[in-house]
Amino acid sequence: MPVLSEVLTALDALWPPERAEGWDAVGTVCGDPDAEVRRVLFAVDPVQEIAEEAVRLGADLLVTHHPLYLRGTTTVAASTFKGKVVHTLIKHDIALHVAHTNADTADPGVSDALAGALDLRILGPLVADATDPAGRRGLGRICELPRPMTLTGFASYAAARLPATAQGIRAAGDPDREIRTVAVSGGSGDSLFGDVRAAGVDAFLTADLRHHPASEAVQHLQPDGQTPPVLLDAAHWATEWPWCEQAAAQLDAVSDRHGWGLRTHVSRTVTDPWTAHAASAQLTSPPETTHTPGAPR
Ligand SMILES: [Zn+2]
Repeated sequence: MPVLSEVLTALDALWPPERAEGWDAVGTVCGDPDAEVRRVLFAVDPVQEIAEEAVRLGADLLVTHHPLYLRGTTTVAASTFKGKVVHTLIKHDIALHVAHTNADTADPGVSDALAGALDLRILGPLVADATDPAGRRGLGRICELPRPMTLTGFASYAAARLPATAQGIRAAGDPDREIRTVAVSGGSGDSLFGDVRAAGVDAFLTADLRHHPASEAVQHLQPDGQTPPVLLDAAHWATEWPWCEQAAAQLDAVSDRHGWGLRTHVSRTVTDPWTAHAASAQLTSPPETTHTPGAPR
C-alpha cells in the first residue's frame, strides 16, 4: 500500500505543478506524507458536501480540480466554510490535493475529457504550449463533430452528453448554423475568443460566458467576411466533471503498474452553484407598446 508522498509524486507526474499558471494555487492543501492511501475520491469542487462524501467513503485522499484557497488566508477556523472543510478532512485523516491549471493544459487534460464526453475527434490544442515538442499540450482543444449538426442540434446533443445541471446549455448565434468543427475549453473560456476566431472553427463550447463578451464575439466582423463562431455556454461544473473520470482512470493505471491496489472513486454530486432554472415560456419579443405624446409613461 502506498503512502501519500508516493501517490503525490505520481499525481505530480500526471499534472506537473510547475505547469500551473502563476496566479494558481495547486498542490497539497492538507495531508501527512507518511499516511497510507487506500481510497481516493476525485471531484471538481472542494466544498463541504464533497468533504463529507470523502468521509462516508472512507477516502484517504481527495483530489479536486478547483483550489480550496486560491489566495492566502490567515485562518482555517471551522467557523469559515473553507476552514470547516479543512477541519472535516484533517479530523478524518483525509488529504486534499489540487490539480487546476496544470490539469487544464496537460495531455490528456480537462478539455480532452470534455471532448471525450462529447465524442468529438480532437485535432489539437486551441492554444498550444510552446514547450511541448509533440504539440499536444495546451489550453482548449480544436475538434470535429461526429457528424454536422445545427447549433440547436449540437446544444441538445451536448446537454444530453454532459452531466445534467440546472443550467443546461445556452447557445448564441444563428440556431440553424451548421457546425462541423468546434473549439472546447473546460471552465471559464471567454478569454479565448481571439484564439477561437484564429482557429477558424464553426463554434466554441465553454462555460461562464457573460453578456458583453458573448455579444461582441457573435457580432465580430471577420476579415474574410465569414460569420464568427457561434457560442455554447455550459455549466462550469459540467465542463470539468469529465476530467474527474479521466483522472481516476489515469491514477488506476499508475496503481496497476505499481501494484498499489488503490480504490478510486469519482463523486457524482453536482456542485455547480446554480440549482434551478426556469426557461421562458416562449422565445418571443416583448409586445409592442404605443406611446401617446403627453400621456404619462
Ligand atoms: Zn474550473
